[in-house]
Amino acid sequence: MAPARLELPVLQNWSCHNCGGCCRQHLIEVTEKERQRILTQNWSAADGVNQLVMTWHAGPPWRKRYRLTHTADGGCVFLDDQGLCRIHAKFGEAAKPLPCRIYPFAFHPSGKTFRVSLRFSCPSVVANQGKPTTQRARELRGLAEELALPDTSTLAPPLLTRRDRLDWGDLLPFVEALDHTLADPASPLVVKLLRAITWTTLVGQSSFEKLRGPRIREFLGLLMEAARIEVPALPVAVDEPSQLSRLYFRTLVAQYARKDTVADLSSGFWGRWRLFRAIVQFTRGKGEIPPLQTGLKPVPFAALEHPFGPLTPEMESILTRYFRVKIQGMHFCGSGYYDIPFVEGFHSLVLILPVTLWLARWIAVSGGRDQLSVEDFSTALAMADHNHGYSPAFAQYAARSRVRWLAEAGDLSRLCLWYAC
Ligand code: SF4
Repeated sequence: MAPARLELPVLQNWSCHNCGGCCRQHLIEVTEKERQRILTQNWSAADGVNQLVMTWHAGPPWRKRYRLTHTADGGCVFLDDQGLCRIHAKFGEAAKPLPCRIYPFAFHPSGKTFRVSLRFSCPSVVANQGKPTTQRARELRGLAEELALPDTSTLAPPLLTRRDRLDWGDLLPFVEALDHTLADPASPLVVKLLRAITWTTLVGQSSFEKLRGPRIREFLGLLMEAARIEVPALPVAVDEPSQLSRLYFRTLVAQYARKDTVADLSSGFWGRWRLFRAIVQFTRGKGEIPPLQTGLKPVPFAALEHPFGPLTPEMESILTRYFRVKIQGMHFCGSGYYDIPFVEGFHSLVLILPVTLWLARWIAVSGGRDQLSVEDFSTALAMADHNHGYSPAFAQYAARSRVRWLAEAGDLSRLCLWYAC
């Protein structure tokens, strides 16, 4: 099979800065071959590794899946005191399991190519630190080969809406149109998102039975123009989202604020019980917010609802890059996001704006501040993106129907305005 052709994100830089964050946040699944390789590396207590508990198996006995063990402090068993990987230090990068080498990249089909996206759960991705991703073509091609990406001709495009599936040639103009909407340098990010919500909602209400080929681009041009007229600038007054929308939103935020790793608050029976009680508190939205991970404190829900000021230019720039990398990388629909259709996937992606700002307010108030710093904001974005597209909760009917409800009620736009202005 010919090697997969890759499209790399031009907006994003990245190099690992060895913070060790991914080695704490992610459960790494290893193949039997990788497990055997680790076993033959002869780890011992002298290396700081207990060789009896390097991997554990999850899942039923007839479908064993092995994972790297985490120690009591939450880090991978191979993470050393300096935050470096012991396998990497002793045997070189190629000796590490494939998921550790792929992170923070993700590959998604797009017609005849695969598009490369990045996970913003890595702080170096959020900060845009390191080498331009376009200079990693060789390395990424090597990883794609090891991943054995399927033949693109066998992969169906994502649904456009729940009713319509177009072929790749007709679907990709919608992706380009979204990126184009977000690229406008003359408008604030919130205005661009409101326009994108407006025209994608109209797409969701349209039928594409007879619309194909060049007429799709014409139709998109009309929709985008209509959205520009509908949303010329930030509205002067901001409507409060409805009580029901805020309840749905808090329930979604609770899922984004979770961190389900081995040593986390949600592990074991009591962990599950605590989590259940926390979800009930999020649903009520009264009293104090139950801290779902370390660093977050029990502050009153009400403390996050007063205005924290508009997005700073630096926050705008981080979020614009975030949305464009996810859109260009097809990291919001189809195989990049639980096989969810284009329109619904974009509406889920938009929620990252209010979710990040809500979490950033929580972090700021936890630290005794009433204004957001870029650090609060960046930490919140990394927290939200850790789960977006990866937590099974967002693929479930309940979460999907909440996003659809928010979109149909017009509250996606209201939530963006409420938390960003
Ligand atoms: S989270 Fe990012 S910067 Fe930190 S160790 Fe992992 S890849 Fe490197």
